[in-house]
Amino acid sequence: MMKYYSTNGNSDHATLEEAVVKGLAPDKGLYMPETIAKLPQEFFDNIEKMSFQEIACRVAEAFFGEDIPKADLDRIVCDTLAFDCPVVEVEPSIYSLELFHGPTLAFKDVGARFMARMLQYFIKRRDTGREVNVLVATSGDTGSAVANGFLGVDGINVYVLYPKGKVSPIQECQFTTLGRNITAIEVDGVFDDCQRLVKSAFMDSDLTSHLTLTSANSINVARFLPQAFYYFNAYARMKEKGIADELVISVPSGNFGNITAGLFAHRMGLPIKRFIAANNANDIFYNYLLTGTYNPKPSRQTIANAMDVGDPSNFARIIDLYGGDHAAVTSLISGCTYPDAIISDTMRECFATTGYTLDPHGACGYRALKEQLRPGETGVFLETAHPAKFKDTVEKAICHDVEIPEKLAAFMKGEKLSVPMSADFADFKRYLLTK
Ligand SMILES: *Cc1c(COP(=O)(O)O)cnc(C)c1O
Repeated sequence: MMKYYSTNGNSDHATLEEAVVKGLAPDKGLYMPETIAKLPQEFFDNIEKMSFQEIACRVAEAFFGEDIPKADLDRIVCDTLAFDCPVVEVEPSIYSLELFHGPTLAFKDVGARFMARMLQYFIKRRDTGREVNVLVATSGDTGSAVANGFLGVDGINVYVLYPKGKVSPIQECQFTTLGRNITAIEVDGVFDDCQRLVKSAFMDSDLTSHLTLTSANSINVARFLPQAFYYFNAYARMKEKGIADELVISVPSGNFGNITAGLFAHRMGLPIKRFIAANNANDIFYNYLLTGTYNPKPSRQTIANAMDVGDPSNFARIIDLYGGDHAAVTSLISGCTYPDAIISDTMRECFATTGYTLDPHGACGYRALKEQLRPGETGVFLETAHPAKFKDTVEKAICHDVEIPEKLAAFMKGEKLSVPMSADFADFKRYLLTK
């Protein structure tokens, strides 16, 4: 059995099931697997001949194979990846890893669908009849991905906390119109307030004795580890094209779950030359790279709002992965920070010169490659959401219509239902105690 330890080092090691159900360790640290297995050379030698699903099953086995029988794990992986994550050329040397072909058109579908299926597997195996309550704070895309990933799953209730007025209407309708086992909670505050309410709930013994609570934020190992799948697939598809030798992967980052999954892939032997953590105006990680000091700040609102994070939770995992060695981090990861005006310019320039429509998050990743790619390197940026999810912002930038895909239009026809909530934990606690 794989054991998971806490980045804070003051909690007992947990099993996979405990780590998934708890989300956060009791000492408020993040769970890390005790070992990260290197995949054999033979796997990398033949990876370009494998499909995305085949690759993902191998990677999943390395993470979870000691805890879930192969047949069950393969089923969880294949159900999760009911859509592709293709690599598309934008211009010479710059490729887009399109992660928006899932049900809510964003990369979080991968982790959320995987976690829903893994949690359901554990609940069935336990057979205690006790319901599990998923609390999730969202700045936009997490809520819709998690809500849709869990929609209709028996024995699981989902509460989505989102900052009032700070989520685009298109994002909002993807988790406020679902009903059934999904409840949307509209918090009078910013994303960090939502995240604080969720974290406080887990630390509150009255609540945890009353309800089985679990988190589906990117801190949960069942959400963030599966994101490694598409890094392997990107490498495979680039190798297929014969251009995987000097790969640079640029990741638009907010809570840093996505890039951390890439760093895990790298640790497992995936030959990525280096990473770029692309940020909007929230420059906490960027400043850490420059100075070696981590200085969390209140989040700033930007047009790439899914990355408006002032205290990225997965920072602790990155520090843990490299033993706090700043030089080791900076030799593998570089950073950048872009104000809104640059993000808009980037969307406009890219569309005008290549015809490719970026979303505001992907635009940060693309821009970073334009600025930082060295001769001989090939860049892949993660296109983390479909541009139609940020229709107004993108259209204003590129001066061109963005078509709304059918999947997205379907959500917009639903009726919005949400529970208003203050940013005061006492109110949220009172609400949950009635459940
Ligand atoms: C969540 C999100 C991000 C940031 O991902 P992290 O794992 O939090 O770093 C980037 N882009 C989009 C569209 C997102 O929804």
